[in-house]
Amino acid sequence: MKEKINVAEIFGSNVFDDSVMKARLPKAVYKDLKKTIENGTELNPAIADVVANEMKEWAIEKGATHFTHWFQPMTGVTAEKHDAFISPTGDGKVLLEFSGKELIKGEPDASSFPSGGLRATFEARGYTAWDCTSPAFIKETPNATILCIPTAFCSYKGEALDKKTPLLRSMQALDIQAVRVLRALGNTTAKKVNTSVGPEQEYFLVDKKKYLQRKDLIFTGRTLFGAMPPKGQELDDHYFGTIKERIAGFMKELNVELWKLGITAKTQHNEVAPAQHELAPIYASNNVATDHNQLIMETMKRVADRQGLVCLLHEKPFAGINGSGKHNNWSMVTDDGQNLLDPGKTPHENEQFLLFLAAIISAVDKHADLLRMSASTPGNDHRLGANEAPPAIISIFLGEQLEDVVKQLITVGEATSSKQGAPLTSGVHTLPAFEKDATDRNRTSPFAFTGNKFEFRMVGSTQSISDPNVVLNTIVADELAEIADKLEKADNAKMEAHELVKELLTAHKRVIFNGNGYSDEWVEEAERRGLPNLKSMVDAIPSLVTEKSISMFEKHGVYTKDELESRVEILFEQYAKVINIEALSTLDIAKKQIVPAVIKYQTSLAESINTLKQAAAVDTSVQEELLTAVTENLRELFTAIEELEKVESEASAMEDDVQAQARYYHDVVFEAMGKVRKPADTLEMLVDKAAWPMPSYGDLLFEV
Ligand code: ADP
Ligand code: MG
Repeated sequence: MKEKINVAEIFGSNVFDDSVMKARLPKAVYKDLKKTIENGTELNPAIADVVANEMKEWAIEKGATHFTHWFQPMTGVTAEKHDAFISPTGDGKVLLEFSGKELIKGEPDASSFPSGGLRATFEARGYTAWDCTSPAFIKETPNATILCIPTAFCSYKGEALDKKTPLLRSMQALDIQAVRVLRALGNTTAKKVNTSVGPEQEYFLVDKKKYLQRKDLIFTGRTLFGAMPPKGQELDDHYFGTIKERIAGFMKELNVELWKLGITAKTQHNEVAPAQHELAPIYASNNVATDHNQLIMETMKRVADRQGLVCLLHEKPFAGINGSGKHNNWSMVTDDGQNLLDPGKTPHENEQFLLFLAAIISAVDKHADLLRMSASTPGNDHRLGANEAPPAIISIFLGEQLEDVVKQLITVGEATSSKQGAPLTSGVHTLPAFEKDATDRNRTSPFAFTGNKFEFRMVGSTQSISDPNVVLNTIVADELAEIADKLEKADNAKMEAHELVKELLTAHKRVIFNGNGYSDEWVEEAERRGLPNLKSMVDAIPSLVTEKSISMFEKHGVYTKDELESRVEILFEQYAKVINIEALSTLDIAKKQIVPAVIKYQTSLAESINTLKQAAAVDTSVQEELLTAVTENLRELFTAIEELEKVESEASAMEDDVQAQARYYHDVVFEAMGKVRKPADTLEMLVDKAAWPMPSYGDLLFEV
């Protein structure tokens, strides 16, 4: 029970990481590979056999029997197909082999992955290619030990069929442009600029036995029915509250699994909603952080299952309490160790920082629609703009110190001071004296500067963080490219940079907002400022294929027009499919579970009235009132079911036009689902708990 965990020893023990490579590979091979990993040079195919063989030996020592090219198709989850290391020797025996070719290239028969028309089924070739910038690892489960090789997944023609390829392309684009800017500013040492990302992951844990009695959770990941329990999150007593022992047990096992995978699981705490929690790792390179986040989500589900729990990653598993998101902390770092978003003590004097800051502000303002799109999932539609998560309007929070510097630059043309943090005065002499930060926090901004990084807070909890980072990297790269063009031409680059900072800040100051992003006034104010407010995923999807967006993505080699169009198709389809499943589940549960349960209860009420009346002068008015209320709501429920059936079948028939279909699901079917839910939730409060066919919100949220 209380065995000691040797964290230092287990950390990374299942990763073919730098230290393993250094120890096991011939020096020349190691050096060669390292060059590709660190400098982004092309991989030398000659070394692949050696690396593969060593990788196999190492994996077999760890108990692996199979390898897999681990990839991230456009479903948003990861995919794997296992191959045993065996190779027949001709005498009825086998050798264990793994060649360089098998390491570098795979060809899954991948015709069933979404391609949005990029690949017709008759030309179904797709290749997976080794991404050596993210280390191979061993996935160890009670029943299997598999060597996993992170790969990118492309079509025969080289089109990206996954979420990794565009991410790697966008990191490359940002690297190129950021280095150009640094060079122009006189930096001669930095050779590479990487994006660093630390995603904070929110999740719910519920009891598996109760989960299994909720068809809605099983089919859709969220509750489609459920009256509010007497207690929700109003007391704020769950946030950072003491962690229950059962949950602590989950977190402990999860941490060990993640540490073995070299994932820096660092912070854990209870979140705002009951049964909600959060895990944050220490930031890593964008690509690795993205792979790790996928592994975190997957491991959470597996560990929960082992412990009689279920981990819900849906953005809104329960109505009426907070849902889950993922804060994407993002910065740019040079290979010589500079964080480009570190303002230092006196940001007003830090011209380089101000230039990168201005670039980001401009990029976010110009491409707010794309950023909004990058955080769109059917589940996230329940959160954004719903007073618990950032609004669907993109704005930037800079904090008092930077806002003041920006103001000086815009109004006076020069910034001559930076506000400093004062000593914290708590009034208690025995508390240590320290300086507080120059800037307070803001919880309601979708894009907040937090000390030395930006935190993109709109991302949904189920999402791969690839999409938001592809957009962030590319829009910033695009802005930096324009800046670099000007700096390279200027006689005095430093003066030009200073002018550009003023120009960009003045032109894009409308996107800066330090107030309460949850307020209605902000929605009106944002409209006056001309900021887009894309309320739903269906509204946001077309932003991927505006002329502006196509030309930007093509310019930086991140997406082709075809790739963007295919994504639009997939997203509309995905939206329609999700709402369709929700609608069918609503009907299934309402018709087969709720209506029969209500009829039974109604009958028992009627029988009770009869029996009591026969038994003489007993007052049956309570039963009669209840019976009337039940009957009225049952009628309303039944009418709503019939309506939902009608619109659902209309929607299913619209498959020729995915956009119109998605729109119809959003505007009509989704609304109709709500009309079924309302009387059903009222009935839940009228009907005997023992007769209700599923665990209540109270049972799910408080009996974990
Ligand atoms: P906060 O409390 O402001 O959210 P934390 O230090 O707790 O800040 O960090 C939250 C997440 O941001 C963590 O995953 C952390 O590793 C990550 N983070 C910190 N610095 C950076 C950075 N320079 N780039 C990217 N992510 C970062
Ligand atoms: Mg948080």
